[in-house]
Amino acid sequence: MGTLEGKHGLIIGVANHNSIAWSIAQKLMEEGATLAFTYQNRFEKNIRKLLEDKPETPLYPCDVQNDEEMDAVFQSLTDSWGKLDILLHAVAFASPDALNGRFIDTKRSDFLTSLDISAYSLVSAAHRAEPLMKAAGGGSIITLTYQASQWVTPGYNLMAIAKSALEAGVRYLASEMGPNNIRVNAISAGPVRTISAMGVPGVRDFFSDIEQFAPMRRNITANDVAEMAAFLSSDGARNIAGQVLYVDSGTSIMA
Ligand code: NAD
Repeated sequence: MGTLEGKHGLIIGVANHNSIAWSIAQKLMEEGATLAFTYQNRFEKNIRKLLEDKPETPLYPCDVQNDEEMDAVFQSLTDSWGKLDILLHAVAFASPDALNGRFIDTKRSDFLTSLDISAYSLVSAAHRAEPLMKAAGGGSIITLTYQASQWVTPGYNLMAIAKSALEAGVRYLASEMGPNNIRVNAISAGPVRTISAMGVPGVRDFFSDIEQFAPMRRNITANDVAEMAAFLSSDGARNIAGQVLYVDSGTSIMA
């Protein structure tokens, strides 16, 4: 029997088969979880293809900037499952302009959009998930971050500021949701080749640098992140809350 048998989860953030959220979803399903997914309209075809052998899977269009769509997702889960044990938030965006220029030149509109999609969306999803997780007797909320939140990574610019806000949000949400047995944590992943990652200028060099300088002398895979997410979703992680857990081959300890 899998460690997540009987648990119900919502996955936000699958764009295609390379998405970290897709690796996590596969692992959670392998461990017995029943999942629902949201998608951004432009990726609908991809996700329908990925789930073609699971036609009963609940699938919702949802742009995290659209409150009506967010409400509809959680209303539907309330009507169908009446509870939620796992919420994966794997969403981030920064406009190419904001990543390619100097950080000092960041436009207000780009700043607000990036923080809204990449950090506020965790708050708004957690807010909507709370009653369903209370009904489940507790839950696990997991988001994905990157260590550029802590130190300067050239090219990451605005995205780093969004990740700092996201990580602080994890701590505040964890402190408020813990009394209801709801845990909120972030996984700080090393670079993985996905649509989002390949938009970061210079990211290709990160992969070769990691092979030379990371303690483990290798890059991570999306499956490494999935293993951590499955653990955080399980009862074994019952007392891990408000943390940023690094799955990065040890890169974050190096000066
Ligand atoms: P990805 O491009 O596969 O996923 C990003 C997702 O964000 C997509 O599914 C996209 O639809 C979604 N998204 C963006 N704007 C949205 C909006 N307005 N509404 C709804 N969804 C929206 O890339 P990924 O690398 O799997 O990214 C998932 C998470 O992992 C992101 O938070 C990313 O910052 C984080 N992360 C990635 C890496 C990496 O190297 N790939 C490393 C550390 C953290």
